[in-house]
Amino acid sequence: MNTESLFELLKVVREPDIQETLGDLNMISAPTKKLGRYAVDLYCYPAPEHYFDSVVDELANIATTADVRLEINQKEMTPGQVGDLEELLLEKTKQADGTSPINILSIPGSKTRVLGFSSGKGGVGKSSVTLGIASALTVLGHKVGILDADVYGFSIPKMLGVRRTPSVIGKVLIPPVSHGIRTMSVGYFVSDDTPVIWRGPMLHKALEQFLVDVYWGDLDYLCIDLPPGTGDVTLSLAEYMPKMETFVVTTPQDAAERVAQRSALAARKLKLPVRGVIENMSFFQGDDGKRYEIFGAGGGEILSKSLEVPLIGSLPIDIALRHGGDVGEPVVFSASESLVSLELLKIARAIVKMGPARIYKSELKIRQ
Ligand code: ADP
Repeated sequence: MNTESLFELLKVVREPDIQETLGDLNMISAPTKKLGRYAVDLYCYPAPEHYFDSVVDELANIATTADVRLEINQKEMTPGQVGDLEELLLEKTKQADGTSPINILSIPGSKTRVLGFSSGKGGVGKSSVTLGIASALTVLGHKVGILDADVYGFSIPKMLGVRRTPSVIGKVLIPPVSHGIRTMSVGYFVSDDTPVIWRGPMLHKALEQFLVDVYWGDLDYLCIDLPPGTGDVTLSLAEYMPKMETFVVTTPQDAAERVAQRSALAARKLKLPVRGVIENMSFFQGDDGKRYEIFGAGGGEILSKSLEVPLIGSLPIDIALRHGGDVGEPVVFSASESLVSLELLKIARAIVKMGPARIYKSELKIRQ
């Protein structure tokens, strides 16, 4: 093996969060050879500890398979290299008018569909449904990101098993990727035991940053876990994301349905298209195959009729879903044949099939 052919093998390794190759990102040097041993430099940007371990392992595995001895030297990028990488990322999202907001979602004509999941009140499983549908869309082969905008009860990072913070390249935030899904959440910036008391302007700023300074890449779907109800956050997001389509999550219980209805009507007031209702915790299927309607029946149906949108799925109560959320293994991946996973896949297919909503508000621009 010569140095060129080894370089060809090594430079196509993907950077795990940016999801481009090391070669494209100029993060790897061409190998050198001395006394039968090869050596490469891996240029690392500022990242959490052990972040590059998986890249080093992958490079080492390639060398082993190719039967060459390879020394991998991890080097911190110089400020100049960090600047070049930032430039490269900004360049990828450059708009026609020459400005370069990292937020590709604001580019008019962006192909990314923005799906907002809302509920009238907390605890109905809105985050679990957001994660479940995002996972199902990933399984179907789409590029997916989740914005955890439930700033009062952020749970997505834990449910997705992300245990590190986003990296920062210049002013660009790199969303951690887990199970192939890019995520951004305030949960990455505050510790679990710190209560978040957001004041309006702070909240606004944090959200703006999540949309403007985050390298989302070219997503097919951005799923947003909205806070319950229609407070400040939803209002701001509706302004930033005129393309957002909303889905209302409810339980079969009448009370939850009533509050869900309020939230859906409010979404209508914001001129966001409501595309469908998803009923969660519809029943529990025992080992005997019998279905128990623990939280009653009919809430989803009633809500879908009154909103004149389809009920696109009814998810059972499943211990595997709860457990998956607790350990960071979404149920669609950990128990792919379960009833709840199959229903999530069905819902994801229905969302893909319905295509983007046709009526959008005029595009709003985010100031830099
Ligand atoms: P929300 O975002 O509406 O507050 P969560 O998604 O955080 O609700 O869900 C609340 C709790 O209920 C979590 O512990 C979650 O694991 C559990 N849960 C939600 N949906 C289901 C379901 N279909 N089956 C079993 N447990 C569920």
